[in-house]
Amino acid sequence: MVNKEALSHLIQVTKDKNVKLIAISKTKTEKDILEVYNAGQKVFGENKVQELVQKYEKLPKDIEWHLVGTLQTNKVKYIAPFVHLIHSVDSLKLAIEINKQAEKNNRIIDVLLEVFIAAETTKHGFSEEELIEHLDIHAFESLKNIRIIGLMGMATFTQNQIVIKNEFAGLKDLFERLKATYFKDNSAFTELSMGMSGDYEIALDKGSTMVRVGSAIFGERERKKGVNVPL
Ligand SMILES: *Cc1c(COP(=O)(O)O)cnc(C)c1O
Repeated sequence: MVNKEALSHLIQVTKDKNVKLIAISKTKTEKDILEVYNAGQKVFGENKVQELVQKYEKLPKDIEWHLVGTLQTNKVKYIAPFVHLIHSVDSLKLAIEINKQAEKNNRIIDVLLEVFIAAETTKHGFSEEELIEHLDIHAFESLKNIRIIGLMGMATFTQNQIVIKNEFAGLKDLFERLKATYFKDNSAFTELSMGMSGDYEIALDKGSTMVRVGSAIFGERERKKGVNVPL
C-alpha cells in the first residue's frame, strides 16, 4: 500500500534540498506505481532488468527510469535504449558493455560508479583503492558513450546510526577528492546517490544528491527469509 503521507513528505523534503527522489518500485505493481506517479513523482528505480523493461513498456513514457541493482553485462542491451541513469557500475567490464550498447543505440548513457562502503560482503561496488587504480590509468576515458556523473553507495544495514554516518561521510569525502582530481574537467560529475528508506535522513545530512527510497513510499516488500537482518 502506498503511504501517501510519507510520499508527500519525501517529495517536499527533497525539493527543499534540491535533491532527486527516486521511488524504488521493485516488486510493486503498476497500479501502485501509477498511484505514486499521479501524486507527481516521475522518477522511478528498479533493481532487476526484466522488471524494469516490463514496467517501462506498460507505464507512461514520461517516467524517468533508473537501474539501481546489480547489473549483469549480458542484460545491458535490454535497458540501453531507454534507461536514464545506471547507479550500479561496479566493474570496468560492465562500463565497457554499457558503452558498447549505448553506442549501438546512438546514446550517451549516464552512470554512477558504485563504491563498496558497507560491512556486508553481499553488497557490491569498487573499493576505493580499486577505483583509484582504474582512474590512474584512465580506464574509463575511451568510453565515449557513457558519462560518469558521480558515485553511489549503500550503507550497512544496521540500527547503529554512527556506522551509517561514518560510511556516508566517507563516501562524500571520496566524492569530493575525486571531483577535485580525476574529474576536475568533468562538470557533469555532480551526483552522490546515497540513502534509502532507513537512512535517507542521514544521507541528506551528509551531502547526498539522490535518495533511493522504496519501502517508505510503497510499504514493506516480501523479504526472503534470512537476508537483510540488521547487523
Ligand atoms: C531496494 C533498494 C533501495 C530501496 O530500499 P528501501 O529500503 O526499500 O528504501 C535502494 N537502493 C537499492 C540499490 C535497492 O536495491
